[in-house]
Amino acid sequence: MSRSFDVVVIGAGPAGYIAAIRAAQQGKTVACIDEWKNKNGKNAFGGTCLNAGCIPSKALLESSELYHRAGHEFKKHGIKTGNVEMDIAAMQKRRASIVRQLTGGIAGLFKANKVEGLVGHGKLLKNKQVEFTPVEGDKEIISAEHIVLASGSEPIELPIAKFDDDRIIDSWGALELDTVPESLGVVGAGVIGLELGSVWARLGSEVTILEAMEDFLFMADRDVAKVAAADFKKQGLDVRLGAKVSKATSAKKGVKVEYEDKDGAQSIEVEKLVVAVGRRPVTSGLFADDAGIQLDERGFIVVDDECRTRVKGVYAIGDCVRGPMLAHKGSEEGVMVADLIVGEIAEMNYDVIPSVLYTNPEIAWAGKTEAEVKESGVAYKTGQFPFMASGRAKAMEQTSGFVKIISSKEDDEILGVHIVGPMAGELISEAVLALEFSASTEDIQRTIHAHPSLAEAVHEAALAVDNKALNFPNK
Ligand code: FAD
Ligand code: NAD
Repeated sequence: MSRSFDVVVIGAGPAGYIAAIRAAQQGKTVACIDEWKNKNGKNAFGGTCLNAGCIPSKALLESSELYHRAGHEFKKHGIKTGNVEMDIAAMQKRRASIVRQLTGGIAGLFKANKVEGLVGHGKLLKNKQVEFTPVEGDKEIISAEHIVLASGSEPIELPIAKFDDDRIIDSWGALELDTVPESLGVVGAGVIGLELGSVWARLGSEVTILEAMEDFLFMADRDVAKVAAADFKKQGLDVRLGAKVSKATSAKKGVKVEYEDKDGAQSIEVEKLVVAVGRRPVTSGLFADDAGIQLDERGFIVVDDECRTRVKGVYAIGDCVRGPMLAHKGSEEGVMVADLIVGEIAEMNYDVIPSVLYTNPEIAWAGKTEAEVKESGVAYKTGQFPFMASGRAKAMEQTSGFVKIISSKEDDEILGVHIVGPMAGELISEAVLALEFSASTEDIQRTIHAHPSLAEAVHEAALAVDNKALNFPNK
């Protein structure tokens, strides 16, 4: 007899595994199917985020940052280290161990929440049935009342720079390098290009990043992008803007990359080339032709604001649907969908999804950039506070950057918060909460912030909006 569940989730990345756990917590019988296989041949839950994305990249960013600071900053603190060396094998062992612990943790969470974790391929058929092809054993047809598609995304491959898993690699390959390449080229100065470029540059690689756009970090506030560009330059990251890559050829010793910029045809030779020009949704083999699922022109599964597909009872969440490709966006969609399934009111606020770049300085924002506010026609005011004036930042030897707050001139409602500097990714949570509650800068001004803390910079930026900053001269 075929098995049946209240909810079947296909994909156990941060969107799918969270949807599965929440649905189980809501009293549903749940199965979550996933086929992810790591480079060691072992299957693991957690999808891109835990195995080849957020978590391993942050592990390497931390290791490389500490190495960099030991070599460049410890002396200032009076710490004598002698010659500091990096053991890449140990760094990678730590990265793999963190990934193993967290992906194993999902298996544990499934058990604790009575989610049936199924390892293999899932395919949506018509009439709310799912074909499950296990890694070992026979195909099985599973029926479900509700089905959640959470198949995620994969790196975009450029036809002019095809991945060869050796010299021309994707972000996953760049996370698992076992030696520091003498030189590293990166196509794309997006989030991955900057984070992984930073990792290998700190470890001694000569990193060149080729970016097609003329504007650096075009999605960020211009003031933030300016500070970040200057700091990355100081760190030795060679970011070339307006660079249209035309060809990358693997040679015996490395890769020759040809590109065109405002000065004409150019080329560089690098030991390894990482192509990080964005990701595309994974939908191949995910549903039968007659399952009723519709894709948009970019290959994303078409859903409404509540992540419902056109088929009743079938939802899609995470990177395989519209919106930013971020783990926390997918997870919150998973929570929303599970709550909707049991008839609760649930919604996503797509206007307030924080973005974080875990570079140094860290970059984080929520809400609108100043350019977006200007474009919207709303009268606004801004306030900025530099980390240079923060006691905690000075103690941390991390004084680059600032907090900038934009609010409405009419009613003082906060419209956007932009941070470049230490722990920006942590500090942004206060801003997210403020935006979520439609708070005003006065709300933050009147909130007591611990001293000395980096969060005081958020407080002071809110004060600066009304020229009331206390620890920095006002405009
Ligand atoms: P995924 O994590 O891609 O998971 C989808 C899962 O579904 C996979 O395990 C896949 O094998 C499985 N699957 C697909 N089809 C089937 C099928 N038919 N049957 C069975 N299983 C299937 N985001 C952040 O928010 N913060 C970060 O710091 C961050 N860093 C990143 C760093 C890197 C290098 C990369 C590449 C990405 C990073 N991201 C980050 C993005 C983040 O990883 C994704 O947004 C997130 O993983 C998307 O979650 P998801 O569940 O939608 O998909
Ligand atoms: P991205 O969209 O962030 O950046 C891609 C960059 O490549 C863009 O700047 C684009 O202009 C450039 N580009 C595109 N085609 C090009 C070409 N032919 N030549 C030169 N440049 C070109 O994509 P990504 O960095 O690959 O990251 C993929 C996704 O993963 C993103 O959506 C991101 O949100 C997510 N991610 C998030 C984090 C984080 O939250 N910290 C970290 C890594 C990845």
